[in-house]
Amino acid sequence: MGVATMSRHLLLVPSLACPAGCSYCFGPHEGGSSMGLETVHAAADWQNSFHDKDRLEITFHGGEPLATGAGFYREALPLLHDGLSSRNVRFAVQSNLWLLTDELCSLFKAHGVSIGTSLDGPEEINDAQRGPGYFRRTMAGMELARAHGLDVGCISTFTAPLRPARRRGLSLLCLVRRKMVFGECFCYRRPARDRCRTSL
Ligand code: SF4
Repeated sequence: MGVATMSRHLLLVPSLACPAGCSYCFGPHEGGSSMGLETVHAAADWQNSFHDKDRLEITFHGGEPLATGAGFYREALPLLHDGLSSRNVRFAVQSNLWLLTDELCSLFKAHGVSIGTSLDGPEEINDAQRGPGYFRRTMAGMELARAHGLDVGCISTFTAPLRPARRRGLSLLCLVRRKMVFGECFCYRRPARDRCRTSL
C-alpha cells in the first residue's frame, strides 16, 4: 500500500497595501511596510525546524502581493528555494495583476510560480463590486502573463446582490478566459454546501 503524501501550505503576505478598492474587501488597502527579507529567512528557518519532508506550497497573498515590486521576489524566491532545498517547494501568487511586469513574469516563470487572480465576471458585473477599471487592468495583467507563457487561474466572488447574475457571469467569464483556469466561486452569506467549484 502506498504512503499518503502530505502537503503543507504556507501563506506569506509581503504587503497589505492594494491599489484596488473592492467593496467587500476587509483589507487596509494602504500603508504598512513591505515584508523584509529577514522575515523570509525566518519563515524558511521555521519550516526547516519541523524536519519535515512533505511537500510545501508557499502562496504569496495580500493585500496585493505585487505591491512590493520585483525586487522582493528577485531575492525571496531563490532564498526560499535554496533555504528549503530539502523540501518539494511549490510557489503560487494570488494577485489582481495590476502591478505585474515583464520582470515579475520572468521571475515567476523561472521559479515555477503558479499565478491566480480574481475576477467576478464580465466587466459590468466585476466592476460593480470591485470598482471602475478593475476588469481592464486585471485582463491586461492576464494578457501579459500569457505573453510570457504563464497560465492564470481565477477565483470569483459572487455577493448576494449579484446572485441573479451568477450564471451569466460564469458563462461570460468562460468566454473571455481562453487559457484561464477557472477555480472556485462562492456567494457570501450562503451556506458552505452551496459553494460550487468549476473546473474548465
Ligand atoms: S484586489 Fe483583493 S486586496 Fe485588493 S481591494 Fe480587492 S479584495 Fe482587497
